[in-house]
Amino acid sequence: MDNADRLRALPKIDDALRYPRMASLLEAHPRQVVLEALRAEIDASRAAILAGSAQEFDPERLMAAVTERVEGAAQRSLVRVINATGIIVHTNLGRSILSDAAAAAVQEVAAGYSTLEYDVASGSRGSRHTHVEELLCKLTGAEAAMAVNNNAAAVMLGIAALARGGEAIVSRGQLVEIGGSFRIPDIMAESGATMVEVGATNKTHLRDYEKAIGPQTRLLLKVHSSNFRVMGFTEEVELSELVTLGATHGVPVFEDQGSGVLIDLRPFGLPYEPTVGESVAAGAALVSCSGDKLLGGPQAGILVGRTEIIARLKSHPMARALRLDKMTLAALEVTLRAYLDPQRAILEIPTLRMLTMSAQDSRARANSLAESIGPECKARFAITVQDGIARAGGGSLPLAEIPTVVVSLAPAPASVVDLEAALRLGSPSVVARINEGRLVLDPRTLSEHEIALVASALERASASLGSEV
Ligand SMILES: *Cc1c(COP(=O)(O)O)cnc(C)c1O
Repeated sequence: MDNADRLRALPKIDDALRYPRMASLLEAHPRQVVLEALRAEIDASRAAILAGSAQEFDPERLMAAVTERVEGAAQRSLVRVINATGIIVHTNLGRSILSDAAAAAVQEVAAGYSTLEYDVASGSRGSRHTHVEELLCKLTGAEAAMAVNNNAAAVMLGIAALARGGEAIVSRGQLVEIGGSFRIPDIMAESGATMVEVGATNKTHLRDYEKAIGPQTRLLLKVHSSNFRVMGFTEEVELSELVTLGATHGVPVFEDQGSGVLIDLRPFGLPYEPTVGESVAAGAALVSCSGDKLLGGPQAGILVGRTEIIARLKSHPMARALRLDKMTLAALEVTLRAYLDPQRAILEIPTLRMLTMSAQDSRARANSLAESIGPECKARFAITVQDGIARAGGGSLPLAEIPTVVVSLAPAPASVVDLEAALRLGSPSVVARINEGRLVLDPRTLSEHEIALVASALERASASLGSEV
């Protein structure tokens, strides 16, 4: 058989579509997708022949390849994973997870019509801000509030509405970059304000701000340094001092608080992190934070502050482009409601529950996971329950080492690198960590039912490593 014969043996698309196994594939998948996969496979066979392949055409092999291609294309891209890393607000895994009540509210307003901009009492148009404004005011002591797409949007809107065309003063120690693309100088430029930097990286004094204030000054901006800390010889101006300075010059203070902490977390052994309410009480005219960091809600940017300032933000043309959708508003409202009773918030909001989990609970979960691990995995790895460190993540509380109890698997004799990959590629995907040559699973970031899922995933992953050990 020469190349010409081999090329002639390849089926025409229409003939291949009549293969018996094609019917079930066409029933389960869009015709377009099947056609594309078939064309691609026939083209690949033709290219292989022209490149010198002597393999004979086999319809069974073609069908298997087409099926794999079609099924691969049908896989959803955004799917659930199991987070066994112990990093609570894991940015790459979607930051905070919602409480059951918040997720149920999302489901409800997503699948049906809702009161998004409708006032049932009067039968007339309502405002989407009402669903969270009163709650945010109650929880922070602010006069007015609104929520937008994320905190980056909140900062942008705040600067644009208050300082466009004028100057905004910010300390050099606070020119942070968060998450690779959020940089204060860039946001400032996009918002149309001229940034006036004062002080040095490690130290900024009140007199630095004072000297910079002029007729063009519209705003004093304070940005939480979130994901980094300058250690040693440092000095930052207190928010309340900035407020006093601003007041004497008629300039408002905007604080980007970052994490969205609403309750004091010190009683749970976590470092001091000023709450949004404390910033309001200190006199900031406007405070912004994220909804999905330590607050534990959906992705959102929260803005609280003085009535006339929030009114300017709400009526700014950018507000419409940055507004929240109904699903997010539903999740945010329910998350905020839980905070009306802080004890309930700690129990119901997963991010808070994981952050404040006791050592005893953490140990019990690790023991429960270690005990559920099956024989296949136990035969290949040495399994230990040991002390470890969990992290808040998401750039929040960067220095907090949260004592935790983990299950760790040592490479004896199979490789933990292979095990980590097998867990990650499994279904459901389980994301774990490798630390000092051991695979580490922290049950702190698992829900109760996920503990059993991880145990069975370990068993499957372990078995998939085959007999190479
Ligand atoms: C995280 C963070 C942001 C960005 O918030 P997103 O909700 O991710 O847009 C801005 N400022 C500070 C201080 C932050 O910590």
